Amino acid sequence: MTIHCPECGLPILPTEITPAGDLAYCRLCERTSTVDACRAAKALAQRPASSEAPPKGLQFTESLTGFQVVLSTASWVALILWPFMLVWAGGSLGGIYGTQIKSGQFNWMLSLFGLPFLVGSVFLFGIAFMSTFGRVIVESGQDGLLRIRKGGLGLYWTKSAAWMDVVSAEVVEETKRRKGSYTISYACVLTRRQGSPLQIDTGADREQAAWLARYLAGRIYLRR
Ligand SMILES: [Zn+2]
Repeated sequence: MTIHCPECGLPILPTEITPAGDLAYCRLCERTSTVDACRAAKALAQRPASSEAPPKGLQFTESLTGFQVVLSTASWVALILWPFMLVWAGGSLGGIYGTQIKSGQFNWMLSLFGLPFLVGSVFLFGIAFMSTFGRVIVESGQDGLLRIRKGGLGLYWTKSAAWMDVVSAEVVEETKRRKGSYTISYACVLTRRQGSPLQIDTGADREQAAWLARYLAGRIYLRR
């Protein structure tokens, strides 16, 4: 007999039940419930449409043929990044390449020296752009494809996969260590029947990753 999480209504795997058989853990809600409560819980398919409000910066729409989740990657960091980028990138590139263009003389030593600044500027621009206009769109429609689009202002980089091939969704935490300090970022990772997993990065926002994983796991479950 399949038991379901009282919170989200998704099935709980037998491996998530304690050896004593009294407690069960839902990976998507990160919640432990008694097995009795899980037995009594209604499955997602038997529940009315979800009324769980998505977290801040996340919107979703559903239709008969599919769904669309839009995550905004806009952040207050943009307020600091743009001025910083203009001064840093503008100053370094202007000094290295601007003077060469102005004088009409090519200096290969200086140009070579400037390459890391050029790469750094492009990288910084990408972050500034995403923190101002950035969106991540996860959608599935009539053509049976799941599309993950990242970008903004009409410029999107798209990954797609057959939606029927996506079998599970979970939250993954990534820790990066930098000079003694840690930065933690989160992603929703989708496992496919074939091919490598698909990763949807939500940055530092754990709540967005968790909501997205729960939502997609629910859609996968209801699809059957
Ligand atoms: Zn749950």
